[in-house]
Amino acid sequence: MKIIKFGGTSVGTVDRIGSVVDLIVAHQEKEQIRGVVFSAFGGVTDQLIELSQKAALRDTCYEDLLKKFEEKHLEAVDALVSQNKTVVQTWVEATLTELRDTVHGVCLVKELTPKTQDFIMSFGERLSAYIICAALGSKGVNADYLDARSVIKTNETFGFARVNKEVSYQKIKAHFDQHQALQVITGFIGSTEKDETSTLGRGGSDYTLALVGAALHADEVTIWTDVDGVMTADPNKVPKAFPIDSMTYEEAFEMSHFGARVIYPPTIQPLSQQDIPIRIKNTFNPDAPGTVIGRTSDSGLAVKGISSIDRIALLRLQGSGLIGVAGISHRLFGALAKGKINVILISQASSEHSICFAVAPDSAALAKQVIDEEFSLEVIAKQIDPVIIESNMSILAIVGENMRRSPGISGRLFDALGKNGVNVAAISQGSSELNISVVINKADEKKSLNALHEAFFLSDTKTLHVFLLGTGLIGSTFLKQLNKQRAFLKSEHALDIKPVALGNIAKMVFDADGIDLNRWQSILEENGSPIDVFRFVETMKKMNLPNSVFVECTGDKQIVDSYESILASAISIVTPNKIANSGPFSRYKKLKETAYKHGVKFLYETNVGAGLPVISTLSDLMSSGDRILKIEAVLSGTISYIFNSFTEGRKFSQIVREAREKGLSEPDPRDDLNGVDVARKLLILARDTGLALEPEDIALENLVPEFCRTAPTVDAFLDELPKADDSFETIRKQAAKKFCKLCYIATLENDKARIALEQVDGDHPFYSLSGSDNMIVFTTERYKERPLVVKGPGAGAEVTAAGVFADVIRIAHYLT
Ligand code: ADP
Ligand code: ASP
Ligand code: MG
Repeated sequence: MKIIKFGGTSVGTVDRIGSVVDLIVAHQEKEQIRGVVFSAFGGVTDQLIELSQKAALRDTCYEDLLKKFEEKHLEAVDALVSQNKTVVQTWVEATLTELRDTVHGVCLVKELTPKTQDFIMSFGERLSAYIICAALGSKGVNADYLDARSVIKTNETFGFARVNKEVSYQKIKAHFDQHQALQVITGFIGSTEKDETSTLGRGGSDYTLALVGAALHADEVTIWTDVDGVMTADPNKVPKAFPIDSMTYEEAFEMSHFGARVIYPPTIQPLSQQDIPIRIKNTFNPDAPGTVIGRTSDSGLAVKGISSIDRIALLRLQGSGLIGVAGISHRLFGALAKGKINVILISQASSEHSICFAVAPDSAALAKQVIDEEFSLEVIAKQIDPVIIESNMSILAIVGENMRRSPGISGRLFDALGKNGVNVAAISQGSSELNISVVINKADEKKSLNALHEAFFLSDTKTLHVFLLGTGLIGSTFLKQLNKQRAFLKSEHALDIKPVALGNIAKMVFDADGIDLNRWQSILEENGSPIDVFRFVETMKKMNLPNSVFVECTGDKQIVDSYESILASAISIVTPNKIANSGPFSRYKKLKETAYKHGVKFLYETNVGAGLPVISTLSDLMSSGDRILKIEAVLSGTISYIFNSFTEGRKFSQIVREAREKGLSEPDPRDDLNGVDVARKLLILARDTGLALEPEDIALENLVPEFCRTAPTVDAFLDELPKADDSFETIRKQAAKKFCKLCYIATLENDKARIALEQVDGDHPFYSLSGSDNMIVFTTERYKERPLVVKGPGAGAEVTAAGVFADVIRIAHYLT
């Protein structure tokens, strides 16, 4: 025999109520359903609270609300009831008049007591159950309306009344013994000894189900709601949440206690006492298996679910007076109990210097008052500080019985939070190890829930959120590559690299659900707002998405000033922009430290040698314990091209002109020939080997002849350059005589960095360089005899974008 319950979400509209009636008709006999508990129609309890509060303030808009309320119920009668329609209408109208009179009374006396509030709320369940009972009757079901006030007896704590189970069970049993028809029962309400109406707490219809099920020793009870079962997390906050097949009573209790609204926590106890299974099913997807809650669960998952309570206050009592003194907790929690303050979570440091606990925000001020009073003498004696309140906090809890058999769970929890820059204010783990709870800032709640969900439900795809600023050649090539590769990364690597923001020189656009890369240009054009780099960065931070990476492809000087705060907001950065790393050493260091401190990455592979694996190779050598003895590098494709083309019979100035015409140089070739860009790259390499060098520490040979450095235009420079042809020719000849080649080499050796035009002979790896390739030669303790060489194209949009992409994927792999 079964008792079932439908929540307000299942009976939100006339159509929905119609489907519920059909569902009961189809299942009642086959499944031996003896009772159906109903909540008020969706949203009705909230409306009753609102209109009664308005009435108490003499806000006349309560009239409109009341009217809508009446219409809604009369329409339901009209649409669903065909048998004895006038009788039903008369009952409903009389009940609505009773409600109207009561609310009017509240308006007259300008007072809304908890008792009256309960009475007013009771109309929601009374009307819904009555109307649905009549609708079932119209479909030929033999059904009785049962006003639970006649069988559920409670104390007088209105709003949250405690049930006298013994008396209630007897009354329920007696009622069912005498009534063989299907009982259609009002959820949520009961009555006191004096027969005054009380309610069982918000969400309390689940509890009504439990009481009836337990009183009748049902074989099973079912909660029909609007989700496919208890999910791994609140689906409103974690889009990737999925239903859990089975869980234990304890797990369900912890999940619901820590915010999973799908079950009202007191529901569990009466049913678990008798081992009555609870099934959670979806009214809108009845074929889905749903969740079974019972004594045991065969699901092997260590963590079953993640819950959160999104509004709590954290209170902290601290001071030397707490250390080693017996009875402090007793006094503290005694004072709170006396103040009728419910404590949600407690955590005490083993140093005993402080005790932290969480309460609902509206109890925080009273909690502080009662505790400060209790410890007033210690406060005066400065042994204990007055209570500190931290508001706007949330609690996250991971729940699962198998956690106690699985080491490393809390490690993974804190790792995922740390990597997303979430600060943990308090931790609490029950000795049963059924639940680990952490208190965090409310602003980080959604991000943390999603990050933890990814960390614990690994089978699911991991998402990396990409914010791209700069859609020039590199940025747009990166988007093209990402678009081509996204599906593959998803299917083969369970990685979803999701672009959620784009900005270019004109516009910017944000979409947490992802931007379609097949038409990003038109999305940016049509939906974008005018670009404001500051706002781009602020919006990115505010969106507070887990696993975020800022891909900066602007080459802009100013944007690097924001890097530190971006990293501090737990957002990784990938950039080909060299400016941040090649400025003052203090900034380079600060960025590294900030990234480390906040558990994020700052990756800049493309700062040196474009897409070539230079920085990552150096980093791997260093972290695996190798020692760098020397780095020699040809880092300018333009200069390489120029000297590789500088063969007998050719003039230096002609080749420079040619390089410019072919688009191989900067618009002003002096920007290549002055070596500044090479110096930046060498500086970054040197710093990555651990040297604290400043830009001026690099001995740099400027290849722009002195006399034309200040030529006012590029043309003027190119016109003057032939004057240097002879001296370059002399150098070339000297080299050729020794069968050497000219190379512009950046060298790091003995902690010194220099860049100069040098001659290399046929044995040197640089001798074979052709075209505009880069080459980086690492001589290390391990690679001493035959150095490690990285060689290939060191410029170009395709390879640079690919390098940026590789950095983004590196960050994705680093996700928990
Ligand atoms: P009903 O009206 O059926 O009682 P509720 O709104 O009280 O429905 O509870 C169902 C809702 O609980 C779901 O729609 C979902 O938004 C929310 N919810 C929160 N956490 C969870 C969770 N872990 N699993 C399933 N639902 C959850
Ligand atoms: N109608 C009540 C509420 O909204 C009880 C319930 O739905 O369970 O809280
Ligand atoms: Mg509910």
